Amino acid sequence: MRSQKQEMKGLEPENGRRSERSESRPFFQEKKMEYRKNDTVTADIIDLGQDGAGIGRTEDGYTLFIKDTVPGDRVEVLIIKVKKSYGYGKLKQVLKASPDRVDPPCPVARQCGGCQLQMMSYPAQLAMKEEKVRNDLKRIGGFENLEIQAIVPMESPFRYRNKAQFPVGMDRDGNPITGFYAGRTHTIISNPDCLLGCPENWEILNEILDWMKNSRIPAYNEETGKGLIRHILIRKGFATGEIIVCLIINGERIPARDELVARMRKIDGMTGLTYSSNTSRTNVILNGPVKPIWGQEYITDILESRAFVISVRYQISPASFYQINPVQTQRIYEKVLELADLHGNETVMDLYCGIGTISLFLARKAKKVIGVEIVPRAIEDARRNAQINGIENAEFYVGKAEEVVPELEQHGIRADVAVVDPPRKGCDEKLLQTLVRMKPERIVYVSCDPATLARDLKYLTENAFRVEYVQPYDQFSETVHVETVVLMSRVKEK
Ligand code: SAH
Repeated sequence: MRSQKQEMKGLEPENGRRSERSESRPFFQEKKMEYRKNDTVTADIIDLGQDGAGIGRTEDGYTLFIKDTVPGDRVEVLIIKVKKSYGYGKLKQVLKASPDRVDPPCPVARQCGGCQLQMMSYPAQLAMKEEKVRNDLKRIGGFENLEIQAIVPMESPFRYRNKAQFPVGMDRDGNPITGFYAGRTHTIISNPDCLLGCPENWEILNEILDWMKNSRIPAYNEETGKGLIRHILIRKGFATGEIIVCLIINGERIPARDELVARMRKIDGMTGLTYSSNTSRTNVILNGPVKPIWGQEYITDILESRAFVISVRYQISPASFYQINPVQTQRIYEKVLELADLHGNETVMDLYCGIGTISLFLARKAKKVIGVEIVPRAIEDARRNAQINGIENAEFYVGKAEEVVPELEQHGIRADVAVVDPPRKGCDEKLLQTLVRMKPERIVYVSCDPATLARDLKYLTENAFRVEYVQPYDQFSETVHVETVVLMSRVKEK
């Protein structure tokens, strides 16, 4: 969910990852094949690319990237783009289905593209993610025989998202619709029931569409810049059942408010209705303050660890960053706490701390926690959440971790244990250098990209740390993303 691009050299997307790949044969054939756009060819899918598209080989070894295919499939493909040594194809039909292929439960899975892996069985998705972690650690980090724990799966691979944002538009008959943008377009395809979202979304969206129809409230039209309702944001606290809705409007005023409020109040768990004005011709959804219409402006959620008897409450507004899958998040945080192995006398740094979710967990078991995060609003949330929970041993700093931590170091502040949870591009090398100088006993690394994780672990192992434990988690089923928690300990000087 963190969309920073990989920027580091040496991390170009790897296009084939299966270990059975023959080392002697170049992955992309040198010989130029005589394929042209609009040719129809047969290909065998041998692997998955970074973005979840299948990697297919034609009979004479030409490589094609083909969305909606599964390793093990034999498919008929329409070539849509030809490059020198590889091309892109569109699936025409599956000639022989892979044993891992399933019928996607969502009827619009292919059009939407939000779920890259819905046509793959859940066990196969898990195996693929585990393999990705293993392979990146080996290929980029040089870790040959590292023990990697089996990936922690979700109980059910659907309905796990606590947050949704739906664009609103009009169909050809002038009726308001909501759903998702088709492929890379801004054409809305009607689907008020995304299977990754919570079941309440459907009722909420239908009530809002019905209210718009009844009161003749037009949806926003991106081309003309006219119309009122642009987006509907929904957030649910899974532990509390609280729901908050935020309408993004192209204007300042919502007509027929009372009817809308009455409709929302009927919905179980509805805690508050808010809106935010956005009159700019932009793709940014939320770009102004969130204002109340009815009820609370935030929801409360609780993350807890039974094993450590910890429970932390968080107030989350429509604009706050908050983990999307709270069930797996809780498991990850519990693991962080276990690996941090705190006894109550440690200073712990939580770097890239967001709204302080991990920090407040750690604070219950440490002497002191220092959280560092680049987004000022997130730090405001972190401080407020510390207060709500009566936590007084957590301090938060706004800034880049790679700048704030060296400054803290200059003031003689060091960490006994450091937790890092960076975006996809991983940790800045300056931060890693500072951590190496600071000599914490342990570093717990929470990663959302195994490639940058491998790069950073390599740096740390070359600088007196040792990888002790690697645990992948599936936090976003049906998508290619995988999270990994790693414990590193400092190698003592002799
Ligand atoms: N630990 C938090 C958030 C992790 S997401 C949680 O579990 O919820 C990564 C966070 O890193 C984001 O909040 C992002 O704003 C922040 N970030 C990105 N670059 C940063 C930098 N250079 N220094 C500090 N924080 C950064």
